[in-house]
Amino acid sequence: MSKNKEILEEEKNHLANATRVKYFDIVIDHGKGAIITDADGREYIDLLASASATNTGHSHPKVVDAITSQAQKLIQYTPAYFANTVTAKLADRLVDIAPGNFQKQVAFGNSGSDANDAIIKFARGYTGRQYVVSFTGAYHGSTYGSLSISGVSLNMTRKIGPLLPNTVKVPFPDQTQRIAGESDDDFSERLFKQFKLPFETYLPADEVALVIIEPIQGDGGIIKAPQRYVELVYEFTREHGIVFAVDEVNQGLGRTGKMWSIDHFGIVPDLMSVGKSIASGLPLSAVIGRKEIMDSLQAPANVYTTAGNPVTAAAALATLDVIEEENLVARSRQLGELAKAFFESAAKRYAFIGDVRLYGLNGGIDIINDHGEPDNEATNKLIYRIFELGAIMISLRGNTLRFQPPLVIQEEELQRAFEILEKAFSDLASGKI
Ligand code: PLP
Repeated sequence: MSKNKEILEEEKNHLANATRVKYFDIVIDHGKGAIITDADGREYIDLLASASATNTGHSHPKVVDAITSQAQKLIQYTPAYFANTVTAKLADRLVDIAPGNFQKQVAFGNSGSDANDAIIKFARGYTGRQYVVSFTGAYHGSTYGSLSISGVSLNMTRKIGPLLPNTVKVPFPDQTQRIAGESDDDFSERLFKQFKLPFETYLPADEVALVIIEPIQGDGGIIKAPQRYVELVYEFTREHGIVFAVDEVNQGLGRTGKMWSIDHFGIVPDLMSVGKSIASGLPLSAVIGRKEIMDSLQAPANVYTTAGNPVTAAAALATLDVIEEENLVARSRQLGELAKAFFESAAKRYAFIGDVRLYGLNGGIDIINDHGEPDNEATNKLIYRIFELGAIMISLRGNTLRFQPPLVIQEEELQRAFEILEKAFSDLASGKI
């Protein structure tokens, strides 16, 4: 029996893995850059980057060095009680790189989920209001607060209610739902009317604490909201004293070809959450935002013993160095153009490729049937074939190929990935799979 299979069989008895996406029998043993190797020694090009959590690639030497030397000095002393030599340095650095020329603060957490919970707390604490508005298709995490404001999967809420009260979801401006011929601005105006509907019927704007958005939705399908729409929503929050927050957990840190996805819109949020790649995959997250909002809570309203832990903070400082030194934001933009050209050309040649959305090294590619409807079965066939040919990819919302390689991927590796994808597409077209 293969080592992969052996380990998986053993694991089934012990690990609650109800959320695991089981596409293929793979057990990862190690990774380097954009290449991962399984327990049987087989290599794959990683087109998922651990769900956008390893933008600097697997085990980047600089990050490994930082982790190792910090672990030798001090693994943990809770930053909630005493300062240490690295955590405050990281807070300074995050304040510097976050948008906004105003006084900012940072609250650390252990996951994107708890960071978004913290955003809800800060917004409620600051405004003294209760309602939170978020968007359909959003994924903000799986703690109770974050899953209550998510809108991407029934599995997140089924059987586990009651959810956090006073949360309202409005339709995300999914550009794939645009009426033929509708301009960006017309689409924005139409969707903004839908945004305002609750406020005109049952939701007093002056009782709303927070609007939180992924300006480019990640798990929702890599879908970018139109510029005008985000502007209209932002202006609405200014008019009504509502905190405007963005979730950069998935799309931040260079993933979209800009440092933050909100940078595409020229808007400065009051609060933003970061996680995943911030410490190259170690458990660290942060809320960065206006000091006066974050001052509204007193400890221990948002305290976690290991949040901002020195080892994760050292990893994050090294991660930010790597992003700068290796120009990963520009790299994401440049290599993203190659990916865009590849997928757009493939869409012309293969009828089953529908909408193609690429923002940096970050794409959602819809797979459709002859009637233009989502084709989950064909998507799964493709994903399995891509795995057989030596690359790792998963789907979003059933029929969207999720393309998020580490930003350090080498151009030759990317070209090799395109060859694998091309072969899988051609095998689907010819009925071989
Ligand atoms: N926010 C976004 C946009 C995400 O994509 C995710 C995870 O996929 C989260 C929050 C939750 O992060 P975590 O899984 O680290 O709790």
